[in-house]
Amino acid sequence: MQIFKQAYSFLLKEIILGHLLTLRYMFKKKFTLNYPYEKGPISPRFRGEHALRRYANGEERCIACKLCEAVCPAQAITIEAEERNDGSRRTTKYDIDMLKCIYCGLCQEACPVDAIVESPNFEFSTETRQELYYNKEKLLANGDRYEYALQKNITNDVEYR
Ligand code: SF4
Ligand code: SF4
Repeated sequence: MQIFKQAYSFLLKEIILGHLLTLRYMFKKKFTLNYPYEKGPISPRFRGEHALRRYANGEERCIACKLCEAVCPAQAITIEAEERNDGSRRTTKYDIDMLKCIYCGLCQEACPVDAIVESPNFEFSTETRQELYYNKEKLLANGDRYEYALQKNITNDVEYR
């Protein structure tokens, strides 16, 4: 037996087997993606970066009911509101501390007008903590940017809501 072991070592059996394995996988279907140039599919229910949506006429959807603020388990949402001249209620401040957020989606579930939603965007890393303190302008800009995808996801999910 010792002689076989020595023969295997001399003939570099493990190295040859290793190369054969590499060769075999070279011609198989690739499962890795060349991120960020290639991206895999994500679920329509994916909970990414937050956004505040508008109606088609540009009016903010949010009616400042504060349900999202109340339901948020991380207390990441801060809202201040006032009544407008036309009697409607709108937020004057809508902040989300994205560092506190646990992406549970409860704010989205609680919202009666589909105003606060979590977009499909997962690429929003920053270099400073301050940049992850989102204000209303930032959230509305996100809503404008992702409206097409958001509307599509909501429409696809409507029978499960
Ligand atoms: S996803 Fe959850 S933790 Fe984040 S803001 Fe909404 S309710 Fe709060
Ligand atoms: S985002 Fe929705 S739940 Fe939150 S205050 Fe506005 S209307 Fe209410």
